[in-house]
This record gives sequence, C-alpha cells and structure tokens, in this order.
Amino acid sequence: MRILSGIQPSGTIHIGNYFGMIKKMIESQNDGELFAFIASYHALTSVKDKESLEKNSYEAAINFLALGMDPEKSTFWIQHDVKEVLELYWILSNHTSMGLLERAHSYKDKTSRGISANHGLFSYPVLMAADILLFNSNIVPVGKDQIQHVEMTRDIANSFNNHYGKEIFLLPTAKVDEVVATVPGTDGAKMSKSYNNTIDMFTTSKQRKKQVMGIVTDSKELDEVKEWESCNIYSISKLFMNDDELANLRQRYATPGEGYGHFKLTLLEKIEEYFKPYEEKREYFLNNKKEVREILEFGASKARKIASEKMREIRDTIGLI
Ligand code: ATP
Ligand code: MG
Repeated sequence: MRILSGIQPSGTIHIGNYFGMIKKMIESQNDGELFAFIASYHALTSVKDKESLEKNSYEAAINFLALGMDPEKSTFWIQHDVKEVLELYWILSNHTSMGLLERAHSYKDKTSRGISANHGLFSYPVLMAADILLFNSNIVPVGKDQIQHVEMTRDIANSFNNHYGKEIFLLPTAKVDEVVATVPGTDGAKMSKSYNNTIDMFTTSKQRKKQVMGIVTDSKELDEVKEWESCNIYSISKLFMNDDELANLRQRYATPGEGYGHFKLTLLEKIEEYFKPYEEKREYFLNNKKEVREILEFGASKARKIASEKMREIRDTIGLI
C-alpha cells in the first residue's frame, strides 16, 4: 500500500498541520510505503518571495525529519526536484473541466478572504492530482479541507482512464481522522498558514505565548461561569490533554474565579511539553542544512525513478512519442 502526503512551504508549520496530517503521516511509515514531499510548486500560489520560500522549505523539511520522517524507509523529497509532475499536470489539465475547478471549496475560501486569484491557485487541484497519480498512491492522509481535492483527483483519473480505455491511474482514497479533521485557529476559523491564526509547532516561547494568548474568546468575566463547548481554548486543549485533564479543565470553566487567561496558560504549558522531545533533533538539522539537502536529493532520485517510468506509460498511452 502506498501512502502519499505533501505539505506546502507556505509558512510556518502549525499544530493544525501536525494533528491533521503530519502525525498520521509519520505513523503511516509502519503501515505502508510512504511518499512524502514538500510542495514547493504549490506554495508558489501564495509565496512570491525568494527568501521566504527557501526558508519555509528548509523548515518544513527539518520539521518532518525532527518529527520522525525516516528517509531510508520512506521516499522524502522536494516537489521541484521531480519535474515530471508538471508534465502530468498539463496532461491532466486537458481532462479537467472548468466546472470541476470552479466548485473547489479551498479556492472559494481563499479568494473570499481576499487572496488574489491567479491561474495557479485555480488549477491547484490539478497539480495535486498529478502529485497523487504520478506515484500510484492508494491512500492520501489529509485534513478535512483537502478531501474534496482527493475526490477531484479521482474524477480526473476516472475521466482519463475512461477516455483512453485503460486503467492507467489508480483511484486514491483520502484518509481523514475525524477527531482532528479541522483544527480551529486562534480566531475559531480553520487554522491556516495563510490566515494568520496559527499556533506554531516550533517557535520561540515568546511567539508561542503571543499566539496562545491571542485565542479569541467571549468576554465573560472572572466571576462568571464559562462555557467550554464553544470555546476555542477548549477545542485546542482537546488535542493536548487526556480525559482526566479535560474533565479538570471543564470543572474550571464551571467554577467562577478564573479567567480565560488562566486556561490559556495551562494550554501553553501543555503545548510546550508536547513538542519538547523533538527539539534536539530539530536543532541538529538546523545546524546541518547540507545534510538536509542531501536527504532531499536522495529522496528525489528514488521518486524520479518511479515518476519517469509512469510518465513513459502515460506518454505512450496518449501518443506523445
Ligand atoms: P495554506 O493556508 O497555505 O493552504 P495550510 O495551513 O492550509 O496552508 P496546507 O499545506 O494547505 O496547510 O495543508 C497541509 C496539510 O495539513 C493538509 O493535509 C491539510 O488538510 C492539513 N491541514 C491544514 N490545516 C488544517 C487544520 N486546521 N486542521 C486539520 N488539518 C489541517
Ligand atoms: Mg491549505
């Protein structure tokens, strides 16, 4: 079974990415053959600055490695090192209707937030389909926001297969963990690198504190009973606390005397404790960027082998001789 996962270097990786996708991806290394890449081409839809793209790409790679990505066992590369994906993207574009792309929630969501709509952003799902189909992926672990993109991949693959009367592409399945399908951001909307509502996984204590203290709540006072059901602090705390700790937290909501600031500090401590074990390894890779580059190149050479074989089959099928 082949599992494929990608993350855009479009900003600093946050706890939504971690619980929505990275955690499952790392664990999946025991269940099947993991293909994971840093989606640098995808990031161009939002990052137009050289320094940021380079920095974010390194950071994403370093974070994955620190969290347990095993480059020997898995195939781990940066998207633009395997250019076959762009060729397939173009081929698939000709089997993708405008209507299909116009229905994409992620595109509509981003443009409605004022992110300018260029063709890259519009055709993003086609590039994602190329990522998935190029490597014959069976399973794609994603957050809820990406389910539709995996469904679109199946539509595109189906339409291609039917057209040429050949099962060239496998139909992938999205794997979503319902519990963490959408991690809310500090403003209650989906946490997103591009929405400025994140709590980052690895950052300075000062920055993390600023992010956690910035979680939006209602304006109940210290001496009032508070509701945990609809509280953003509680929804995020659920990711870091066990049942007993959560019961205790609910008790604190029900007992007047503490304010939201106190609950935020408890959460802050839990977050720091959670990611601490990975920091040493992260530090190591931060100081050994050359090694990171070599790891990615090694991964790209493995990925390219599969990609070039697949492209030969596809070209042959459609008449690109
Ligand atoms: P951008 O704002 O640039 O789209 P993003 O934060 O949405 O960034 P992506 O790189 O688009 O991150 O997504 C990486 C993975 O993380 C995907 O599998 C996506 O489903 C998952 N993911 C992103 N945000 C969340 C979230 N808030 N909750 C759960 N999963 C998420
Ligand atoms: Mg996204």
